[in-house]
Amino acid sequence: MPISSPQPVSKMPMVRDFRKPSQISEIPTETASTLDAVAERFAFRANDYYLGLIDWNDPADPIRRLVIPDVAELNAWGELDVSDEAAYRAVRGLQHKYRDTALVLTAATCAAYCRYCFRKRLFMRHNDETAQDFGPASVYVAQHPEITDVLLSGGDPLVLSTARLAAIVRRFDRIPHVRTIRIGSKVPAFNPYRLLRDEALWDLVAQVTGRGTTVYLMAHFDHPRELTDMARAGIRAMQRAGAHVVNQCPIVRGVNDDAELLAELFETTTELGMPQYYVFQGRPAIGNESYVVPLVRGWRLFDAARRRCSGLSRRVRFAMSHASGKIEVLGVDDQHIYLRYHRARNAADESRIMVARRDDHANWFDDLELLEPPVPIV
Ligand code: SF4
Repeated sequence: MPISSPQPVSKMPMVRDFRKPSQISEIPTETASTLDAVAERFAFRANDYYLGLIDWNDPADPIRRLVIPDVAELNAWGELDVSDEAAYRAVRGLQHKYRDTALVLTAATCAAYCRYCFRKRLFMRHNDETAQDFGPASVYVAQHPEITDVLLSGGDPLVLSTARLAAIVRRFDRIPHVRTIRIGSKVPAFNPYRLLRDEALWDLVAQVTGRGTTVYLMAHFDHPRELTDMARAGIRAMQRAGAHVVNQCPIVRGVNDDAELLAELFETTTELGMPQYYVFQGRPAIGNESYVVPLVRGWRLFDAARRRCSGLSRRVRFAMSHASGKIEVLGVDDQHIYLRYHRARNAADESRIMVARRDDHANWFDDLELLEPPVPIV
């Protein structure tokens, strides 16, 4: 299948990886060793394509902030497993939290590392959460006919070779009750060449969709500047292969906490046929103190951004991925924050509306004081 890209495939460079901040010539030597120390604690990786998006003359450049360590990450703050994912582990590499969805942790690495990642524990030594042998995970799904949706996540499934990814996808695609396979990935932003030069990847998507299983690429663009011509071509290649594409991202301080910028992201992703699915409240994960935007401010930015958009771009929801479920923020007034379980761990909580006392310093659901008994929607 020919692709339309700003560069012929034969001329596309292999990206060069950097594993330490001190390997990046634009980082002054006097700060590089401090940043290396941060990277010793929380994994660092970036490549020349993505670093090329940074304006190094701007110390507050959002792309720089997204990928280059900040000493504030060493502050004692946040939890290692903030959404209590361990509680949903059914077999190694598989979490089963919501009835119809199995989350499969396919890889313990990413193409680069977002500094605000809530799963940074996966990139530490002694991680035993990601699957190596996908047999037990596929047997579990086969034994649970209520699971219709398999979400491949990690780490990033698109850092795996296409042969390895295909073997994983086919295991789940063979299960008759699996109707949707999702691939959660920031590779379209970090290294779009991966999507542009790999015909086997397009063939895989085309074969799976041809068999009647729907493939979603859950892309992760945080900032409109990541939507380069190359990234757009990568998205188009996946769409032409048959994948549906949506976008999701958290609000991150210094990266995208700006209503106009979020509106541009929502409108552009809609235009590209990968509408924004969720905006997440940043999770209070370890190392993330300087990246989290308080909940009320996050809501106000989200709401202001959505108001600037057309109807198609307003389908996005603002939610917290809490241990008890996906909690949507519905609104904020002078005294209250209104919330609803969009997805719930316990069936009794489904669609439950909650009202909390407004607290402009709260970052997370656990910081809130609920004012009324939850109201079930019937
Ligand atoms: S791509 Fe996803 S899993 Fe990887 S570092 Fe970024 S947020 Fe974490």
